[in-house]
Amino acid sequence: MNAPLLKIEKLNKAFGRVIAASNIDLTFEPGVLTSIIGPNGAGKSTLIDMFSGSLPVDSGRILFQGVGITHLPDHQRVKMGLCRSFQVVNIFPDLTVFDNVQIPVLAVQKRAKRLFRPVVREVDVHREVSDVLERIGFGAEALTVASALSHGDKRLLEVGIALAVRPRLLFLDEPTAGMNPVERVSILKNIRRLSEEGKTTFVIVEHDMDIVFSLSDRVIVL
Ligand code: ADP
Ligand code: MG
Repeated sequence: MNAPLLKIEKLNKAFGRVIAASNIDLTFEPGVLTSIIGPNGAGKSTLIDMFSGSLPVDSGRILFQGVGITHLPDHQRVKMGLCRSFQVVNIFPDLTVFDNVQIPVLAVQKRAKRLFRPVVREVDVHREVSDVLERIGFGAEALTVASALSHGDKRLLEVGIALAVRPRLLFLDEPTAGMNPVERVSILKNIRRLSEEGKTTFVIVEHDMDIVFSLSDRVIVL
């Protein structure tokens, strides 16, 4: 049998006397859209921080596709296909939508350079960026400066930036934070559609219970 996409074993984390994670065991399988819910302070962000490598664990093991990554730095996890977004908006506000997505696309294509194609071709980069923008439903906005987008579209752009590195597993920490109900449903439907493409497995932290239960394949309560 294949190893699960991500396996967590006996994960522990404390901040002084605050126990943020206590003996957490979890398994994430490919293609399963998972939501993590729980009250403020339950330890949702801490978990994602540890899974993605932005926070060291106290003890326990993290295995990605069967490979131990417990102490691997975050950028190496990204190379393996494990990516995350943050609870606060993280884009380049002065760059256009296109350029925001082009930065990670360039990084991936430079890394994938081959002996017989030593240069990154502009046409390949352009095609890839356009593909990502199309997948997140951005067309005409490509040349808009990111700071001019609505809050909902900024968060969607973040998803696009994360997708541009072609992750196998993507954690989104409260992708709907600060959104109105209409934007909220819209971005989550987008995530549902992207999940059904089958390229990336999504795990999201979300507050709205109704949306969580209607759009997720699996719900984890912390
Ligand atoms: P959630 O995302 O579910 O709201 P967090 O993972 O952010 O919860 O926080 C879990 C607990 O750990 C909270 O009690 C929080 O105050 C504490 N905590 C989180 N990060 C830190 C930190 N860097 N230093 C000290 N305490 C922290
Ligand atoms: Mg949080």
